[in-house]
Amino acid sequence: MTRVEALPDTVLLHRLTLLVRADKRLGAEISRHLAEVDRRGLYRDEGFASLFAYCVDGLGLSEPETQLRIHAARAMARNPELLAMLEGGETTLSAVARVAPILTEENRETLIPEVRGKTCREVEALVARVAPKPPRPDLARAMPPESPAGSDEAWPAAEKRYRVAFDASEEFWGKLEKARGLLSRRFPEGRYEDVLGATLDLLLEREDPQRRHARRLARLAWKKTASAGAVPAAPGAESAATEARAAEAEVPAEGREIPQALRDAVWHRDSGRCAFEGRRGRCRATRGLEVDHVIPAAAGGKAVLENLRLLCRTHNRLAAERYFGRDNIARAILDRRNGAARPPMGRESG
Ligand SMILES: [Zn+2]
Repeated sequence: MTRVEALPDTVLLHRLTLLVRADKRLGAEISRHLAEVDRRGLYRDEGFASLFAYCVDGLGLSEPETQLRIHAARAMARNPELLAMLEGGETTLSAVARVAPILTEENRETLIPEVRGKTCREVEALVARVAPKPPRPDLARAMPPESPAGSDEAWPAAEKRYRVAFDASEEFWGKLEKARGLLSRRFPEGRYEDVLGATLDLLLEREDPQRRHARRLARLAWKKTASAGAVPAAPGAESAATEARAAEAEVPAEGREIPQALRDAVWHRDSGRCAFEGRRGRCRATRGLEVDHVIPAAAGGKAVLENLRLLCRTHNRLAAERYFGRDNIARAILDRRNGAARPPMGRESG
């Protein structure tokens, strides 16, 4: 590598121009590959719930960079003119990513040529003129530690802090202030973290399948030991199996309804996380999870603990595609969208 300190000014400037040009070409090339990985859905087989998770956890890109690249790649897949402009150095990835969310079939013909040759800031002004101001995105970010030497290892989980911010309606604000007032004895400082934390505890106590499962086990252990006249033992793995068996016994012979107790046992066993094992390990998704039949109900699969698992939407769909074939699933989804009353391929959703 050349020592840049030794380069004459003109050569230095010329080389920098060439490097930026090469960087743009590379950016366009990455976008084309990203769009194709997206189209083929390859991130799913690798064990990621989304293209975003694949870029961040699989490729090691930063979250903002990933967001920008995915926006741009998808916009360019739909509008090849943008890709051509990027390859020709007539626009930048950031400019494409900014205009991407407001491009429609109706405005693309007029809007895309307007992007040509514009700086990022000029494109931002263009977007502001054309589109109404989009809502600000929610913010939830881990805060760097106070100490200057801040590698992740020197940052114990217990001391991690997060910055959470979001825009809210008048109605939400009213509820928050009411809760703050009601809890003012407990939390005289009225910090939102305390108030919302207490609120979330109440909600999770009712809605968290794992907590519900633990409560059921405790009840079961209590009943058993109470009838034996002994002191109740802590719920353990044995009673977990008993509990699941009891729930399985409740499954009606017909129908696809899985009893709540059995669903909760599945959540507990899979630790509230997608159970799909991809080529790069287990999927990390903890949102949008569905209880899925390993052998589909439509193919005679039973609603028993061993035949049930938690899957995110992406891997639920992938599993269905692998079982029934990609074309059949696409057709079934299309049929359902068009209002055809067809049973949903033995999948439990929700
Ligand atoms: Zn998954």
